[in-house]
Amino acid sequence: MKNIVVVGGGFSGISVANKLARKLRRKDAKVILIESKEINIYEPEFVFWGFKNTPQSKFIKPMNKVLSGKVNWLRTTALKIDSEKRIIALANGDTLHYDYIVLATGAKMDEDSVNAYDEDNIHHFYLLDAAKKLQESLKNFKGGTIVISPTTVPYKCPPAPAEFTFVLDKFLRQRNLRDKTTIKYLYPLMRPYPEPRVSEKVQKNFDERGIEFCEFFNYETVDKNNRKIISLEGEEIGYDLLVLIPPHKGQKVIIESGLGDREGFVSADKFTLKVNDHDNMYAIGDCTNLPISKSGAAAHFASAALIKNLILEMKGKEPTKKYNGFTVCFIVTSFRRSLLLVFSYKYPPRKIGLHNLFLYGLFKRSFKIVYFKALIKGYL
Ligand SMILES: Cc1cc2nc3c(=O)[nH]c(=O)nc-3n(C[C@H](O)[C@H](O)[C@H](O)COP(=O)(O)OP(=O)(O)OC[C@H]3O[C@@H](n4cnc5c(N)ncnc54)[C@H](O)[C@@H]3O)c2cc1C
Repeated sequence: MKNIVVVGGGFSGISVANKLARKLRRKDAKVILIESKEINIYEPEFVFWGFKNTPQSKFIKPMNKVLSGKVNWLRTTALKIDSEKRIIALANGDTLHYDYIVLATGAKMDEDSVNAYDEDNIHHFYLLDAAKKLQESLKNFKGGTIVISPTTVPYKCPPAPAEFTFVLDKFLRQRNLRDKTTIKYLYPLMRPYPEPRVSEKVQKNFDERGIEFCEFFNYETVDKNNRKIISLEGEEIGYDLLVLIPPHKGQKVIIESGLGDREGFVSADKFTLKVNDHDNMYAIGDCTNLPISKSGAAAHFASAALIKNLILEMKGKEPTKKYNGFTVCFIVTSFRRSLLLVFSYKYPPRKIGLHNLFLYGLFKRSFKIVYFKALIKGYL
């Protein structure tokens, strides 16, 4: 019997473990998931949570509601992976042998390197506690300048900061605070979104709503005392409330096991999902440096190739199944409307979805039901 170990139980790890456990016979394989957290969070809700206090039970579920009983769950953390001996050192003092390993450790939000999130007026919405703090701050906001900026790229869900900005605009209008507020959106490129056609749409929406776009802003630091965000080039922009997407890095276990690139992300083959230069090792989701967005949707579509290849290898065959980079993305433009993007390694986002529709908005808002009932459980 083979030990298949999945390291990390976020969306990618849980859904892959569930699918593997369903596809493989118990006498052939034991699927083990290493994860210390006892809950799973539907993160897209964070875009709205700053504004609407949706009950946490709607977007946070206990592990036993999303993980199949066929998966052996180890409630601990992986400290180090020895890919030659195929052994994992665990935080509970044990070691675990693997025949195949799937890395799904996600990205670490490096809040410490910013050293500013303890301020009452500096926030982000990429973690639960941070989103809660932002919610409180927005509730008490009476007007001024709000600045939204990433610190580094890549970050999870490329449109999320722009989505947040659109919903913020709507929220301020609903509270009659929009004419008392300047919104500035800072981005390191000459346009507000990497892909030109999508960028055009985002810019159009910014213009219509009076959101100021500041191009080529490469974040360097925050001057907390003087309430200024400063770029690498020395440009200074004042704020009353700052929403700063934290730097994303690879997890400690990846770095300390020598499996990461400069930022600590795992280098894997973009087609097969096999980790480069390491046997019997795959990687999926936000922990990778694949040329796709760090998103649940991308991980979902990539998982089919990973699972097929891993099973082929178990049968002594070549892992020939290829992921073509296909993914979808809904860009929220208000509480109720969205654009839909569809893209792959071969083609940029298709024009067909770039309509700002209520239907897409509805789909995005209600998607957490599909996420918890089917997607994470591995039924789709
Ligand atoms: C605000 C926001 C909006 C988003 N919107 C969308 C959207 O609209 N559409 C979309 O598709 N995606 C969206 N995303 C992105 C999506 O949520 C993530 O891409 C997805 O959750 C990544 O899943 P993951 O399992 O790869 O990583 P994670 O969810 O980060 O899970 C990694 C897991 O690994 C565990 N781990 C780490 N180190 C170890 C270790 N050493 N040992 C054991 N376990 C470990 C962690 O505890 C964690 O549970 C959004 C994200 C945010 C923050």
